[in-house]
Amino acid sequence: MRVRILGSAAGGGFPQWNCACPNCRGIRDGSIPARARTQASVALSVDDEHWYLLGASPEIRSQLESFPALRPRAARHTPIEAIFLTNGDLDHTLGLLSLREWSRITVYATECVRDAFCHGNVLNRALQRFEGHSRWMSLEPGVPQELMAGLRVEPVRVAGKSPLYAAHTSPEMASPEMAAANAAWTVGLKFTHAGRSVGFFPAVARIDAALRAALAGLDLLLFDGTLWSDTELIDLGLANVTGQQMAHVSVGGSEGSLAQLQGLGIRHRVYIHINNTNPMLREDSTQAAAVHAAGWSIAEDGQEFVI
Ligand SMILES: [Zn+2]
Ligand SMILES: [Zn+2]
Repeated sequence: MRVRILGSAAGGGFPQWNCACPNCRGIRDGSIPARARTQASVALSVDDEHWYLLGASPEIRSQLESFPALRPRAARHTPIEAIFLTNGDLDHTLGLLSLREWSRITVYATECVRDAFCHGNVLNRALQRFEGHSRWMSLEPGVPQELMAGLRVEPVRVAGKSPLYAAHTSPEMASPEMAAANAAWTVGLKFTHAGRSVGFFPAVARIDAALRAALAGLDLLLFDGTLWSDTELIDLGLANVTGQQMAHVSVGGSEGSLAQLQGLGIRHRVYIHINNTNPMLREDSTQAAAVHAAGWSIAEDGQEFVI
């Protein structure tokens, strides 16, 4: 499998348009060693011809252009076979609306994520201009599906939350599936091919035994690196919201992913979906050093893995 990181930041990107936190300020004035990052998206292929996009970020146009393998090979063509959504948040879905130029698109998502995006969304009509313009395929946690040439995907249910825009949807607009408290709002994706496995888990609220078991032995894990600490945004005076309330487990601390995902026999462990406030984005930080010392790396746009 060939895995290309198109974007590695959390929602907002790095730097973020309305943010002057120490990281965003520092990268703008060149005073800290760090790299700019676009919002998280990954391309995966087993033959270099057909590609699966994991996440449709708001920066999708420039991300597709940044990688020659994703460019069209005929007057109207795209090598993108399908797009996978791991949750309904706008940094993972908004790019769909930028793919409206008359090519058929196939989108894999859980039912509640599909309903949240499609239900009552007049903008989604831009993807329904002709019969079969956009085709939604259902992801069911725990149910593997065959994609192509021996490539399989298995959605893994993880603790998460509904996107903010769906939480504010009026009850009469919400479908029964959306209203269900136990709806699968967030999944991780496990891809397997020719005995190799890749996990894409950009949003994880909590690490438990079931998740550890699902991740054990992966050849490549791309995991939620949104925040270093649960109170990061509060400590910086940016927002009154914890990581837990945003449904992102921290990297640091005894309950964090660095501590909780040790010893699972994962070959490559990589943090992705990194928020611009996370101190590990600064390459000379003690946090970045701790990440590397634990055998993890920090994803960068344009990075590639052959697994
Ligand atoms: Zn996100
Ligand atoms: Zn910032």
